[in-house]
Amino acid sequence: MQQEACLRPPSPVTLPVSGQAAPFYVRRVYCVGRNYAEHAREMGFDPEREPPFFFCKPADAVWAVLPGTTGSMPYPGQTSNLHYEIELVVAIGTGGSNIPISEARTHVFGYAVGLDMTRRDLQIGMREKGRPWEVGKAFDHSAPLGPIHPAASVPHIETRGIRLAVNGAARQTSDLGKLIWSIDEVISNLSTYFALQPGDLIFTGTPEGVGPVVAGDLMVGAIDGLGEIQVRVV
Ligand code: MN
Repeated sequence: MQQEACLRPPSPVTLPVSGQAAPFYVRRVYCVGRNYAEHAREMGFDPEREPPFFFCKPADAVWAVLPGTTGSMPYPGQTSNLHYEIELVVAIGTGGSNIPISEARTHVFGYAVGLDMTRRDLQIGMREKGRPWEVGKAFDHSAPLGPIHPAASVPHIETRGIRLAVNGAARQTSDLGKLIWSIDEVISNLSTYFALQPGDLIFTGTPEGVGPVVAGDLMVGAIDGLGEIQVRVV
């Protein structure tokens, strides 16, 4: 006899895939910290090439912003210093553990433009006390993403430009060639800690120029070949 669940299962988190009808089902969201030298410096760190470090967001912090539309992000509670971080997001299509660097790219399904929205005051407060970062990083609506572009449609992703403007003024301008840890190295290193699975997303880090936004501000982020993401803080 089939048993009733005591609660309805939560809806799956999905992202649209450019050029395909079927969506991408999100499993986990991993994020790399301080992966551009100038951003490490602006956060008060020496950008030595230490091993990459990771934190997570819950899958349901992800929400899709379709091209040509403006997403609305509610200003979150418990902060007075909400920051944008524009990032390349890698979508994993084939899982694995201890993936060699030379094989990492074969595990990639595609790429997207994402925002790692951050309650900077809470993140730094927790960091200074040696406490976990969740309240600063893993809050609701903290991961707006554009559609996933299949890897084959964006060759040479590792040399593309990445940028973000707030209310039309440039705030972050860099290129993916400045990642301290490359896409392949991030996948390989992360897979030594966690068995990667299809549906995993990896935020690869933000370049310099992070800063605050307030209600009413319009963020427009872009990566060459992956289009734009537009999000207004409300
Ligand atoms: Mn980040």
